[in-house]
Amino acid sequence: MEASLTARDRVGIQDFVLLDPYTSESAFLDNLKKRFHENLIYTYIGTLLVSVNPYKALDIYNKKQMDIYMGVNFFELPPHIYALADNVFRTMQSEFNNHFILISGESGAGKTEASKKILQFYAVSCPSTKLLNNVRDRLLLSNPVLEAFGNAKTLKNDNSSRFGKYMDIQFDHQGGAVGGHILSYLLEKSRVVHQNHGERNFHIFYQLVEGGEEDLLRWLGLERNCQHYSYLVQGDCAKVTSINDKSDWKMVRKALSVIEFNEIDIEHLFAIIASVLHLGNIKFEADVRGYASLNNNNREMHWLSKLLGIPTQVLQQGLTQRKIEAKTEEVFSPFSVDHAVYARDALAKAIYGRTFNWLVNKINESLVNTDSSRKTVIGLLDIYGFEVFNVNSFEQFCINYCNEKLQQLFIQLTLKSEQEEYEMEGIEWEPVPFFNNKIICDLVEEKHRGLIALLDEECLRPGEATDLTFLEKIEEKIGGHPHFVTHKLADQKTRKTLERGDFRLLHYAGEVTYCVVGFLDKNNDLLYRNGKEVMRQSKNAIIKHCFPSTEPDSKRRPETVVTQFKSSLVGLTEILMSKEPWYVRCIKPNEAKQSGRFDDVLVRHQVKYLGLMEHLRVRRAGFAYRRKYEIFLQRYKPLCPDTWPNWKGTAAEGVRCLIKHMGYKRDEYKMGRTKIFIRHPRTLFATEDAFQV
Ligand code: ATP
Ligand code: MG
Repeated sequence: MEASLTARDRVGIQDFVLLDPYTSESAFLDNLKKRFHENLIYTYIGTLLVSVNPYKALDIYNKKQMDIYMGVNFFELPPHIYALADNVFRTMQSEFNNHFILISGESGAGKTEASKKILQFYAVSCPSTKLLNNVRDRLLLSNPVLEAFGNAKTLKNDNSSRFGKYMDIQFDHQGGAVGGHILSYLLEKSRVVHQNHGERNFHIFYQLVEGGEEDLLRWLGLERNCQHYSYLVQGDCAKVTSINDKSDWKMVRKALSVIEFNEIDIEHLFAIIASVLHLGNIKFEADVRGYASLNNNNREMHWLSKLLGIPTQVLQQGLTQRKIEAKTEEVFSPFSVDHAVYARDALAKAIYGRTFNWLVNKINESLVNTDSSRKTVIGLLDIYGFEVFNVNSFEQFCINYCNEKLQQLFIQLTLKSEQEEYEMEGIEWEPVPFFNNKIICDLVEEKHRGLIALLDEECLRPGEATDLTFLEKIEEKIGGHPHFVTHKLADQKTRKTLERGDFRLLHYAGEVTYCVVGFLDKNNDLLYRNGKEVMRQSKNAIIKHCFPSTEPDSKRRPETVVTQFKSSLVGLTEILMSKEPWYVRCIKPNEAKQSGRFDDVLVRHQVKYLGLMEHLRVRRAGFAYRRKYEIFLQRYKPLCPDTWPNWKGTAAEGVRCLIKHMGYKRDEYKMGRTKIFIRHPRTLFATEDAFQV
């Protein structure tokens, strides 16, 4: 007895639901910390998995561990991401329905790593045939490719996702992974042309320059020196100790061939990456009239022309002049130097952003399953985490808004709907209060009144509106909102002053001060029309595809960036709402990315805003499992002679009879209006086991 007590003291409790005596925040933190220091990074709250980033390699992700977790009841083994993956898979198999796993947490908390572990588990544990192995390899290898093009070093995370990713894995009747589909969300394109100090551009640029084979670099006109490229040096940290660009390059090359990119695609893809680097090195000089001229850029122009397959003259004109519509003829107006730099950067961002979308589509083509038989899916959601830097801009605004939306989804699916369901089913229930961040979502996205609507309004006044008029407008229209702080009100609301040109949002995960500079520009994301026209002449097949001649010209304003993003998040919410949810909540133990360091204040803050205590309270007082009487009876009626083979009464009576026969204790379950509620999964596992015998 004593020995087991000591062990428990040491390793803590593996499911917070069983934590005694109190569900206090300190007890919660103590337990998490105790386990963290024993390298036990996973803990459950019922079926929700809490994961604390260990910042070191643990020997818990291997085939042997996968075998241990495969097909074993959830609570019979120590918590693990494999247990969650296995449970989702088996539920999908037995109920033949669709599921998704929402992985959340702030930047650097371990979301992308968690999603990779889940995918690896399915790749290894699902039935395999030669055909299925192909799909499996492509699913797995889509990761290094998308990470190379869509991840980058930031101050928060050396491998930070700069796009959102939702991946469906499709399974057939036998549980084989037969296909997949990826949706990507708003890539942070501005990184292509600008990086803050201590940050890098997307990994692929450094991989190519560092790892590219000699003759490839020669063919692309690249030097093996990141310092040579203006787009790679702004953050002043081309080299990162935790990243091996050379070996990552090899991995990406291999992955591209497995995903069935042919050699021509690959050539064109790298030609584009190299072109972006050459484009960044183009310098403009002012001619005698003060207009941008391209003297001394012969080398860059030569390579751009060669790699993109566009005549030099056409490129030259596209980079220095703007086409203006006149009644009958085309009129060209020369750019000033500043304008030319702006147009050049806009072009680089457009080329990279569109190529990224092409890449996602290409991967999807290789994952398509043409067999029309019915399939079920498990969706994995791994999106950029909440982030706060010293200076936060439009990109952080979008990323943090996205995190608000996901938190809202979590609240709706767990805290809110769970409690509403008890009420609807007539189950006695003491409501658990929680902070509902809907008020912040509304502040951002409400029609006509929200920040997005006001930003779009300003974007519709070209020439008149500026970032500062946008700021004035929001100060005037929403200055009184409790989660919005302006320069004028800063002292009263948060007791911290605010620079002119900044506004502050009190997000669910903490306050963030945004600098409005660049908001209008980034939201408009303008690419001059002749930039597009120049690209249309390209002989590079990917560029041709990305700038189709059928693309409508900008007579009608395209939707702004943030409005497109908002619609894509609405679409995502709809996709998720139609599936059964599972959660992984990732926690970052310290800001220094160090192993063995558990910063109490930092973790407490995350536990708070992730709503873990509220979730625990609902879970503890509530019921882990519920099913409609009809479904429950249908599945388990063979276990009782009175209900088998046919039950004549109502489904609820049948269930009552069945569980009496099974010996359920009074406090283990509750009968609602339409459903049976079972307090602990163990009760159900026992029933399942009886069923298997
Ligand atoms: P972002 O929102 O910036 O994309 P993220 O939540 O996806 O952040 P990850 O990239 O998954 O964060 O994790 C950051 C780093 O933490 C990883 O590169 C890895 O070094 C470490 N890490 C995360 N999870 C684990 C784990 N389970 N085991 C070992 N190291 C881990
Ligand atoms: Mg990530």
